[in-house]
Amino acid sequence: MISGRSLLKKYWEEARNRTSIFFFAPACPICETPLLWRDEWFLCRDCRERMRRKEGHHCRFCGKFMAGETTVCGECAIARPPFLCHRSFAAYEDPMKRAIHSYKYRAIEPLKRILAAYLMELVAHEIDRKIDAVTAIPPDPGRHRPFHPTIELARTLAKKTAIPFRPDLLRKAVSTPPQVSLNRKDRREGLKMAFVVPATASVKGKTILLIDDVYTTGTTMKVCAAALSRKGGRVIGLTLAQSTWGEDESD
Ligand SMILES: [Zn+2]
Ligand SMILES: [Zn+2]
Repeated sequence: MISGRSLLKKYWEEARNRTSIFFFAPACPICETPLLWRDEWFLCRDCRERMRRKEGHHCRFCGKFMAGETTVCGECAIARPPFLCHRSFAAYEDPMKRAIHSYKYRAIEPLKRILAAYLMELVAHEIDRKIDAVTAIPPDPGRHRPFHPTIELARTLAKKTAIPFRPDLLRKAVSTPPQVSLNRKDRREGLKMAFVVPATASVKGKTILLIDDVYTTGTTMKVCAAALSRKGGRVIGLTLAQSTWGEDESD
C-alpha cells in the first residue's frame, strides 16, 4: 500500500518533470517554439509542414516556378542554359529562408541532414537519369571559412544517395568581389573567368549534379555548368530554394 508521503513525492516528481519539460524543452531553431510533441524532431511541426517541396508549374530547363501552363520561361526560350536542367526544392521565403541562414551561419548539424533530405527528395522526384557524380559550387578562395555549407550539403547528399562525391571537379581560381558591388553584366564577366575545371578532373560524358543553396539569377550555376560542359560534362543543378529578386546568395 502506498503511504501518503510517497504519494506526495510521486506527484511532486511528476509536476517537476512536466515543468522541466516545458522550461528545458529544446526549441525549433527556426521559429524558437519549444518542441513539446513526440513527433517533433529538431524542427517544429509548423516549420516542417511549411517546408514542403513546391509542386506545380516550372520552366523545364531552369526550373523557375511559374504560374499557368507554360513549360519554358521567357529567358530559356531566348537562350537555353548550359545545364540540362535545374530544380529548386522550395521558394526562398520563410521558414526555408531562415533554415538556410541558420545552417550557413551557425553550422547546425541536424539542419544539414534535414536540408540534404530535401535535396534527396528532389533527386527522387525530378531526376530520371543515372548520375555519375555530385559536386558543389566551390567556395571563393578569398573568403576563408572553417566550414563550407554548400560543400558539406553536397557531401551529405552524395553519402545518402551513394553517388560519388567529387568536390574536385570545379575550382574557383580567382576571388571575385561580393555581388552588391558590381552590376549584373560585369559580375557575369568576372565569374566566367573565375571557375575552372582542373586538368585532372575527368568529366567527359559524365552527368554531374551541381549543388547550391539558393538560385536567383542563376549566373553562378550557369558559369559553372558552362565550364563543365566545355569539358564534355552534362550538368543538372539542384538548389534548396529559388528567389526572384536580388543576386545569388552563395557568392
Ligand atoms: Zn518552427
Ligand atoms: Zn527557364
